[in-house]
Amino acid sequence: MVDLASVLDRMTVRAELTEDLPGGSVRCLACAHRCKIGLGKRGVCQVRFNKDGQLRVPFGYVAALQADPIEKKPFSHLMPGATALTFGMLGCDFHCGYCQNWLTSQALRDHASDVSVNLVHTISPVEIITAARRAHAEIVVSSYNEPLITSEWAAAIFKEARAAGLLCAFVSNGNATVQALEYLSPYLSAYKIDLKSMQAKNYRSLGGILQNVLDTIQKAHAMGLWVEVVTLIVPGFNDSNEELFETARFLRSVSADIPWHVTAFHKDYKMTEPHNTPAATLLRAADIGREAGLNFVYAGNLPGRVEEYEDTRCSHCQRLLIRRFGYVVSEYHITAHGACPTCGAQVPGVWSENPKNVKLNGYGMPVSLV
Ligand code: SF4
Repeated sequence: MVDLASVLDRMTVRAELTEDLPGGSVRCLACAHRCKIGLGKRGVCQVRFNKDGQLRVPFGYVAALQADPIEKKPFSHLMPGATALTFGMLGCDFHCGYCQNWLTSQALRDHASDVSVNLVHTISPVEIITAARRAHAEIVVSSYNEPLITSEWAAAIFKEARAAGLLCAFVSNGNATVQALEYLSPYLSAYKIDLKSMQAKNYRSLGGILQNVLDTIQKAHAMGLWVEVVTLIVPGFNDSNEELFETARFLRSVSADIPWHVTAFHKDYKMTEPHNTPAATLLRAADIGREAGLNFVYAGNLPGRVEEYEDTRCSHCQRLLIRRFGYVVSEYHITAHGACPTCGAQVPGVWSENPKNVKLNGYGMPVSLV
């Protein structure tokens, strides 16, 4: 088989999120690991490396390119019904045992994922935006692997996307640095962040630090990005009432208007011990979110089994604003000014200025473009 590292190492450019250190070492600033990388060495993510005193970073390929419903990200308050042209590369700075994208995320970290070399397609930012136009996408999203570790590639694509009048979003583990957030913020409209647990030891087991993720949620919100947060509920890992309350209370302390998605785990990769998350657990988590004072709580991955938690209601008068089933929007009642048509309250989020054009009863499935 072709050597994955040699293929990926060729598709790199000099980093922008970097600083030089004495002796030819560099400090990578793309994620909160802030790796100090000596000559000839790699960062924790393995895809960023020091060659001759320069930090080289991934550029010029995708391992996945799809036209996805925006609801799949999931975003519930970002242009519902829209198509999100979504691209991903290879690699991650975490090693979550339940990763559903492990074949691409664990490239260079787990030899079982070496076959991901077959997914690599050379492409330019302009070609990606051409694909977005062809797919009638309104949003361009960096996802599938951890986008922070490939921030320079995302920025190059987002520049083209903004010039074409498209919105841009990140779907990320939230292990960001201030430098990465500031570097990306001129392009980004929205940032979806996983808050995987409120226990420091759980984050350590996934390869991260809880406080870094909490900081990113606060900073992204303070910078004016539209933030939605997802917690994959894993039985026995993060599903106690105490932890769910703590998660919801933290989000409430940032803003009651941050949508919180509680989603169902299913056995994958190395985490095959816990049972799949039952609908009753998602409903309990969602109820806790509401009780803690969050205005918008959604339960995902179990369409049709989570009562009203797929829909959006006005937080003032409780009128139904958006009805959903899975990734499909079947009703949309938000005004062109982003308000509830009954009580006139503003609905937090990013909404279509042409509600009549919102796509209802769409395909609801990803479409691969490579
Ligand atoms: S992206 Fe994160 S893990 Fe990768 S080299 Fe940079 S600091 Fe290290």
